[in-house]
Amino acid sequence: MKIGIIGGSGLEDPKLLTHSTLKKVTTPFGEPSSSLASGFLNGVEVVILARHGLKHTIMPTNVNNRANIWALKEERCTHIIASTACGSLQEHIKPGDFVILDQFIDRTTKRHQTFYNDACIEPDVVCHIPLADPFCPQLRDVLKECAKKLHIPAHQHGTVITIEGPRFSTRAESRMFKSWNADVINMSTSPEATLAREAGICYAVVAMSTDYDSWHENKEPVTWEQIVAVFQNNAQKVKELLLSAIQAIEDADCSCKSAYKKSMLGRSTLDSIKSKIRTIPNFPKPGIMFRDITTLLNDKDGFQQVMQIFLHRYRSKSIEVVVGIESRGFILGGAVAHALGCAFVPIRKKGKLPGQTIKAEYELEYGTDTVEIHSDAIKEGQRCLIIDDLIATGGTVCAAYSLVQKIGGNVIESAFVVDLPELGGTAKLKSLHIPYYTMVEFEGH
Ligand SMILES: [Zn+2]
Repeated sequence: MKIGIIGGSGLEDPKLLTHSTLKKVTTPFGEPSSSLASGFLNGVEVVILARHGLKHTIMPTNVNNRANIWALKEERCTHIIASTACGSLQEHIKPGDFVILDQFIDRTTKRHQTFYNDACIEPDVVCHIPLADPFCPQLRDVLKECAKKLHIPAHQHGTVITIEGPRFSTRAESRMFKSWNADVINMSTSPEATLAREAGICYAVVAMSTDYDSWHENKEPVTWEQIVAVFQNNAQKVKELLLSAIQAIEDADCSCKSAYKKSMLGRSTLDSIKSKIRTIPNFPKPGIMFRDITTLLNDKDGFQQVMQIFLHRYRSKSIEVVVGIESRGFILGGAVAHALGCAFVPIRKKGKLPGQTIKAEYELEYGTDTVEIHSDAIKEGQRCLIIDDLIATGGTVCAAYSLVQKIGGNVIESAFVVDLPELGGTAKLKSLHIPYYTMVEFEGH
């Protein structure tokens, strides 16, 4: 279980966030709004993202919601709690009150609403995600309970209208929204909530009312100064509520996590890639299910799809050297290096490289094996991507990683088409903090 936190909550404060790391990431949809601050809050693993950038320089229309949610998904967040300031459309929701949203009305006009049907990742899939209840019921219960315990005034229901912005509403618009029985108004909840549901992440929002928008006869219409002042006065309460909620979340089964699976029309690129990999039982010895990528390479569309995914993932990462692991890593690595316009370096089995090499040993089921790299192949600090067709126990890639590091390379990521998670390779990379990416998974050995 890992909790994503979106908003300007102040929880990234190093006094609260322990074992913290700051990570700059990119996604197939571009860069998220800020670096990801990861660490632990009271022992719970969290990833914090500033929706409008660390200095509030990204206006609502330009928030890359797809990159934000995708980045948290890639960090393996299971839940997201978002915080937002909002205007009140109802007299009884006073400035400083919290609202645990349960519905939204989308009045935005310029935002991407889906990850799918996009050249970036799934061109042939349409996702009709159900959204009758757009917020996670379990997460909402946690927030309601925690607010009660902390004596924080929080309305248990609320419909938010999300407008495009950046301007605030006219009085006529504000009165109309009020007449629709919406409770609060902001510029951020849609499509953030929709994308979280598509990503299979439980998502809920703590909205803090800061003003009466512009419908109220007896109050000054909303200004940015007013929002900031009320938000700052109540920032401590937001922090307390989020901190206590994070502790109370249980990693239970939830319909949010699987809704997207039933909503897709068309075949996903990854399913298509997976279907093109042939399985040969009992090769090279009895009991082994050999996952053979030659059938994938032999299919021009399949090979293209693999390359497109690699290209989308790495073209903005300033990779300088692709390091391929013998032997199928040469085929993929060579093609990726060519597509990215960077250099290629092979890592070979012992005795194959003619120049001066350094070696790394790794363990096999019985005994050990050795791989080598030319010791002058990579310049100090060059950004490297390690590629192989498949990750099993992770021995070779760990050896490759250490070789690249030893000769001065900076490994940005290691990438594989096939993951056999039951063999523990990716778990091993995770425990060693070696960044990795895998495209498709197969069960078994
Ligand atoms: Zn849920």
